[in-house]
Amino acid sequence: MSVTASPAAVRSIYSSRSARDRAPRPRVVMTVRSSSTTLSAVPILTKLQRDCATPLPVLRHVADAMAADMRAGLEADGGSDLKMILSYVDALPTGNEKGLFYALDLGGTNFRVLRVQLGGKDERVVATEFEQVSIPHELMFGTSEELFDFIASGLANFAQKEGGKFNLPQGRTRELGFTFSFPVKQTSIDSGILIKWTKGFAVSGTAGKDVVVCLNEAMKRQELNMRVSALVNDTVGTLAGARYWDDDVMVAVILGTGTNACYVERVDAIPKLHGPNSTSGRTIVNTEWGAFSSGLPLTEFDREMDAESINPGEQIFEKTISGMYLGEIVRRVLIRMAEDTRLFGDSVPEKLQMPFSLRTPDICAMQQDCSRDFEIVGSILYNVAGVNSNSSARKIVIDVCDAIAKRGGRLAGAGIVRILQKMEEDSKGTVFGKRTVVAMDGGLYEHYPQYRRYLQDAVTELLGPEISKNIVIEHSKDGSGIGAALLAATNSMYGH
Ligand code: ADP
Ligand code: MG
Repeated sequence: MSVTASPAAVRSIYSSRSARDRAPRPRVVMTVRSSSTTLSAVPILTKLQRDCATPLPVLRHVADAMAADMRAGLEADGGSDLKMILSYVDALPTGNEKGLFYALDLGGTNFRVLRVQLGGKDERVVATEFEQVSIPHELMFGTSEELFDFIASGLANFAQKEGGKFNLPQGRTRELGFTFSFPVKQTSIDSGILIKWTKGFAVSGTAGKDVVVCLNEAMKRQELNMRVSALVNDTVGTLAGARYWDDDVMVAVILGTGTNACYVERVDAIPKLHGPNSTSGRTIVNTEWGAFSSGLPLTEFDREMDAESINPGEQIFEKTISGMYLGEIVRRVLIRMAEDTRLFGDSVPEKLQMPFSLRTPDICAMQQDCSRDFEIVGSILYNVAGVNSNSSARKIVIDVCDAIAKRGGRLAGAGIVRILQKMEEDSKGTVFGKRTVVAMDGGLYEHYPQYRRYLQDAVTELLGPEISKNIVIEHSKDGSGIGAALLAATNSMYGH
């Protein structure tokens, strides 16, 4: 959407300019500046919309590049931007799982613990309880033992409160699904070597170690009778959790702070897979698609943000479509407009100059503003950036947010389509001939309606109305916790 100035506005700019030249009248000058700036911010907006446009040919080009990367990543480790990590999950929940299982989700500043009593096909989830514990800041910089002891003691504390409908058969060890959202080189369903900490963690002594061993040892130190049965990525947990309720789930996508996707792959389509084949003939592949980078419609603002990031040149798809970055891209565009066109008056607002000061929830809230003068936008700009704005500047801001959210949603949609098409290419009729479900989770997908709509639009446009009718894109809220517990059940040492 572009904004054009009405003839009246143009007239007022010229007449006020000459007024300004004649005599300083502050109030008039303020008005004049903001209308003249609004007019001249339009070319920056138009260029932005052009640079990040995602018409069908661009989406197809990106999608095909992703398919090539997927295949190269399945061919050999290190073969492409997409790692296509083997999850070692080749038995998905069926609904028959029974018993008491625990899950632990460690992925950010909190960890969540959960227990679930599974009752099989008829009773399904008999009861579930969870707790969230925040991780003291100093532990993010401490030793591996300190961190895992803290987590294990949280778990022990939680396990102590077990009772009521939760029931562990005599003499059994409790089993845990461990969702660990940091890069690991998984070596089996219940082991994985930490490659490196991310997201602000700098714990010493864990890199190169098996995180399952670290947790099992810490639980032993706490005298907690529990062991890890499954180590799972959060995307894989989401797929498992959604699959428990719906056999048609084939793909899971996280769109939150970061982004990732996984899907059910045939083992004979994975050349790099050596060793024992799964009995089901299928396994979940974690694409780590955030690292994808080919052919994306990037702008100068994306390039600058990447260059100044802690991981330049990495996670480019993630930086284009995920929640951590959308607000920051918009902020960079607004700074340029403020500098070049005085969008917000004489100076570039100081608060707005702070990286990441404008967050994705802010741009989402601004896009919901339907009031005539965009009052919500005005107050967000005031609160977040300390900016006074007039209604035409606010309209420009909304258009910037829309351009960035639109590109993000449509590119995410293209990625989903290409995963589905890849599955269909390898095994005709398995995806498009029937109902197929894509399980979605993450705060960005959950809370940003325009983003969701753009994503769905791209899927429909790329697949056409007939095929897309059978593709169900469904929110699977917090499925990964229960998914991890279910995978602990599926891989239980007691069978199931
Ligand atoms: P995480 O990805 O860190 O595990 P979530 O799935 O809860 O956590 O996602 C949180 C992210 O979702 C935030 O970083 C933010 O980018 C995005 N988000 C949260 N609320 C909103 C909102 N109202 N509108 C748009 N994006 C949101
Ligand atoms: Mg998460």
